[in-house]
Amino acid sequence: MKTPYSPPDYYLVDELLTAEQKIIRTAIRDWVDRRVKPVIDDAAQEAKFPMYLIKEMGELGAFGPFIPVEYGGAGLDQTSYGLIMTELERGDSGIRSCASVQTSLVMYPIYTFGSEEQRRKYLPKLATGEMIGCFGLTEPNHGSDPGSMETRLSGNGDHFILNGAKMWITNSPIADIAVVWAKDDKGTIRGLIVEKGMAGFTAPETHKKWSLRASYTGELVFDNVKIPKENLLPNISGLKGPLKCLNSARYGIAWGVIGAAMDCYDTALRYAMERKQFRKPIASFQLQQKKLAEMVTEITKAQLLAWRLGTLRSEDRATAAQISLAKRNNVEMALNVARESRQILGAMGITGDFPIMRHMMNLESVITYEGTHDIHLLITGNDITGIEAFK
Ligand SMILES: Cc1cc2nc3c(=O)[nH]c(=O)nc-3n(C[C@H](O)[C@H](O)[C@H](O)COP(=O)(O)OP(=O)(O)OC[C@H]3O[C@@H](n4cnc5c(N)ncnc54)[C@H](O)[C@@H]3O)c2cc1C
Repeated sequence: MKTPYSPPDYYLVDELLTAEQKIIRTAIRDWVDRRVKPVIDDAAQEAKFPMYLIKEMGELGAFGPFIPVEYGGAGLDQTSYGLIMTELERGDSGIRSCASVQTSLVMYPIYTFGSEEQRRKYLPKLATGEMIGCFGLTEPNHGSDPGSMETRLSGNGDHFILNGAKMWITNSPIADIAVVWAKDDKGTIRGLIVEKGMAGFTAPETHKKWSLRASYTGELVFDNVKIPKENLLPNISGLKGPLKCLNSARYGIAWGVIGAAMDCYDTALRYAMERKQFRKPIASFQLQQKKLAEMVTEITKAQLLAWRLGTLRSEDRATAAQISLAKRNNVEMALNVARESRQILGAMGITGDFPIMRHMMNLESVITYEGTHDIHLLITGNDITGIEAFK
């Protein structure tokens, strides 16, 4: 379908955005139309991330938009970050994941917990895309419960020794650096920067994914890796370190998935208007209208949730539980919109000629990573009752 994209804005949410926010969104939207849309289906079919897009994403300001300008970021507010994520994910969740990881899980911890030397060494290169980063928290035996991690950092003197393994790590096979979380000799979780090429460090790719195919995923394996002391993030210890990073990433996801949902809805609406059965457009049948009406309702609610959360986060008032609620709600919304949209397209919905099936498969990862759907529900439950139901 070659007609221009026309995203739903049923409640005139655009009026809540500043002129600068709209300019930023338009720039990313245009880039996605020109550079992502034409290549992304082939990339996903071939299970390849279009690497040449990384430098362009850096030029666009998609890496570290809220990081201060003096470290290479764009110094933007949180709503702008959210809008960038929405537009990137309209292209593909893999493209958004690349920017999310680089921004929230690599640049954010280096900026927030790193030394001045670390900030100056890594952030400007991460902002341009000259350097790619990844985030190692999940392990083969510990996903939802990262506090039980087994990766160990030991030693004293001028270096540490790192042993262990991380799994399901976005961008690990292409990353120049990894922000890794490990327990020290006292059992305290610490963050450190592991660099590609360090002896004993490997990052094998994970194959055979049916989801996020246009995104590299892999492992991080540490076999007695010698880590210089200056690679430790000095200003954080404990589980709150990785959790703060995840808050930032989950916030971006709550916005990002709206892009995937809008793309599916827009595609389904156009198709329903054009496709005729029983001599009428399928959009004229009540059952199809119900699907479309429910989709636009849910997208509108998600937009308002994200916008309000963006305002709270820009004011540094958004709680982790509020972010969980939005991540959970909006990802489920997007997955439901993708599933309903696919049905509206009938058989055409399963092909790569339309973006819906790709979004739908991607969202199956998004609903699991950065805290599963169930875990976010338990976070809300804990927040409103004061009772932990995790353990
Ligand atoms: C494509 C992809 C990319 C990823 N990228 C990264 C990355 O860059 N960095 C990184 O560190 N990780 C990454 N992850 C890992 C992701 O964050 C984990 O998969 C996620 O945290 C869930 O862990 P798990 O898969 O081990 O599932 P598990 O923790 O084993 O959970 C399995 C099921 O049990 C449920 N469950 C678990 N505990 C409870 C409980 N207490 N009560 C009720 N139900 C429970 C879960 O909700 C889930 O449904 C990625 C994952 C994917 C799929």
